Amino acid sequence: MVVLSQKTTLPTLLLFLLGLLSVCCCRAELLRFEHEAKPDGSISFLVVGDWGRKGLYNQSHVALQMGMIGEKLDVDFVISTGDNFYEDGLTGVSDPAFHQSFSDVYTDPSLQKQWYIVLGNHDYRGNVEAQLSPSLTDMDSRWLCLRSFILNAGTEMAEIFFVDTTPFVTTYFTNPKEHVYDWKGVLPRKKYIENLLLEVESSLGESTAKWKIVVGHHTIKSAGHHGNTDELNMLLLPLLQAYDVDFYINGHDHCLEHISSPESRIQFLTSGGGSKAWKGDINPWNPREMKFYYDGQGFMSVEVTQMDVGIKFYDVFGNELHKWSTSELGKFVI
Ligand SMILES: [Zn+2]
Repeated sequence: MVVLSQKTTLPTLLLFLLGLLSVCCCRAELLRFEHEAKPDGSISFLVVGDWGRKGLYNQSHVALQMGMIGEKLDVDFVISTGDNFYEDGLTGVSDPAFHQSFSDVYTDPSLQKQWYIVLGNHDYRGNVEAQLSPSLTDMDSRWLCLRSFILNAGTEMAEIFFVDTTPFVTTYFTNPKEHVYDWKGVLPRKKYIENLLLEVESSLGESTAKWKIVVGHHTIKSAGHHGNTDELNMLLLPLLQAYDVDFYINGHDHCLEHISSPESRIQFLTSGGGSKAWKGDINPWNPREMKFYYDGQGFMSVEVTQMDVGIKFYDVFGNELHKWSTSELGKFVI
């Protein structure tokens, strides 16, 4: 594992990223980053997904509220769950959509923090390597997008495992319809997925963090338009259960959602309301598991201490729609 700290200088960081591009696309060795906790030992961050529409479809309104909540919570960083640029990712590093959908939208001072970003299926329809390029970090130092990586947030407190989920989905390969996916760095697919799962399993197994959080673009459990992702249920979920992961956080369905599961402690959280929403096709779900579903735009905050993790969902007006904390786990009979 390569360890980088927040104090790492930018040139060093870029050097590591260049190294990643040259070797890790084939070996799926996960880079590891560190983000220091606040002086009181806590960490807070926002999660937004499915956003890049040049401010349209309420993206800029969500961004405004993210700025206000970000200031209130003094967030340490922001996580993007992918589908960063609609409809078809970036065309290249000089695509103006990077500024129009990212730098010029998330302008609040409280959001001028590190962004940790994964790719979604729409990003794979463009030039994927552009989003992974250090050139974007040169243009906006907040941008840190890798296929899969690990973030140590606070010493021994939270470990966040970012997993590249798009290559898991078989239909993108067998029935891509009119879409053209950029699979450079992914093929052969079977080897890529095997390597990634091995690395995720060994990293989860080695983790001594109090809280384990896994972030991917695709759903594992969702009542929304896309529903469950069968491949992740089959291949990734067993690892999350075996290694006592606390949260799986995703986008892909353009909604805000919280599902608990009677079989494990994992909370399934969807934050995919960064812009276009209101799809309107919600599937029935066991009400004992479905803690919250909102079909519109919004985002999520996460506050972490050694004792507790609290999550909150907000709508486009900044209203708090749902909150939950790990202290409520004791109320469940498993
Ligand atoms: Zn998606």
